Amino acid sequence: MQTALADFIRDTPEGREADAILRKCVHCGFCTATCPTYLLLGDENDGPRGRIYLMKQALEGQEITDKTRLHLDRCLTCRACETTCPSGVQYGRLLDIGRKLVEEKTARPAWERLKRRVLAEVLPRRSLFALLLALGQLARPFLPARLAGGIPVSATRAGAWPAPRHSRKMLALAGCVQPALAPVINAATARVFDRIGISLIEAKGAGCCGALRFHIGYQEEGLADMRALIDRWWPMIERGEVEAIVMTASGCGVVVKEYAHLLRHDRAYAGKAEKISAMTRDLSEVIDAEFGRIESILAKKERVRLAFHPPCTLQHGQDIKGVTERVLVRAGFELTPVPDSHLCCGSAGTYSILQPELAGQLKRNKLSALASGAPEEILTANIGCLAHLQSGTERPVRHWIAALEERLN
Ligand code: SF4
Ligand code: SF4
Repeated sequence: MQTALADFIRDTPEGREADAILRKCVHCGFCTATCPTYLLLGDENDGPRGRIYLMKQALEGQEITDKTRLHLDRCLTCRACETTCPSGVQYGRLLDIGRKLVEEKTARPAWERLKRRVLAEVLPRRSLFALLLALGQLARPFLPARLAGGIPVSATRAGAWPAPRHSRKMLALAGCVQPALAPVINAATARVFDRIGISLIEAKGAGCCGALRFHIGYQEEGLADMRALIDRWWPMIERGEVEAIVMTASGCGVVVKEYAHLLRHDRAYAGKAEKISAMTRDLSEVIDAEFGRIESILAKKERVRLAFHPPCTLQHGQDIKGVTERVLVRAGFELTPVPDSHLCCGSAGTYSILQPELAGQLKRNKLSALASGAPEEILTANIGCLAHLQSGTERPVRHWIAALEERLN
């Protein structure tokens, strides 16, 4: 596509990147067929091609209106369009640039600004979030059903974390909301790893990966969170104590794998970020590579029918497809077919809070697709999808590592 970026952005690193991405788009529209918001709303501006065009106009200096912001806000950042695009358009990167510009050039209503500020303050602070969640759970029985349904029930206990005893060590990210919502995820990972000869450790004081603030309009604060996390991890990495960084939440994994890109212009952090991105693995990649060690400790159990929901951050963001499914089948589970498994469940970070109607519709569609094969439970690989889906069904929704752990002798 022809472009003529405006003077204010043309010769900046962001302008050059956006220009290169825009020029790759041939406007064919293949991507619209797999865009969840286009499928729901049927409006060109709520599909990738239309949003690309809106961002092009903004970058070319045309007026940026509240309507432009609305259509970008409705985007889930699921990146299904990237997977479908035959021209390799990096829509997610263009969206980061477009959203920053739109945020600077338009004014949100006060209530929206407040909501976003509260989310940006509360969610990345682990202790504050845990406290508010505990209070919400206490109040749950006294709240109207609509409000109570949005508060996750008390989490399964984490169980013991094995003491480090192996020479092979990997680093895990505790994350921001995951320790309060599902502490069992990292603890179960540590126990499985311990059985196969790897000690899993978490760095003291390591906080949010930065995705949360970065994606709701506070990009500089998100980058500051990323630098703070790098500072916590770096001493262990520099001393060569860990061979990899393992992500148990695909939503964090996709961002940490992009640190190299996001911090490439930061002289103090570019090198560290590059190393960290290169060392980062999704949990499924590690378990798949080490499966030979797991096979010998797998118990012979009855086949259980499960439905697996691959988060967008795993299948589209990290381009990891079929790996968790392969692990689960090798471990003796029966996976039920799930139609339209490429479509987002509507969780998408804070999207389920900021766009509740669209997120609710996507959740209902996803749960009905997941239930179509009558599974006993639903497994997934990201805490956001897990909590979002669980809020809409009585059927258990868990992280797949907890199910795998139960299969070990
Ligand atoms: S993003 Fe890709 S699939 Fe979508 S219109 Fe552009 S070239 Fe076509
Ligand atoms: S990221 Fe997802 S919601 Fe956004 S335009 Fe692409 S496919 Fe549609």
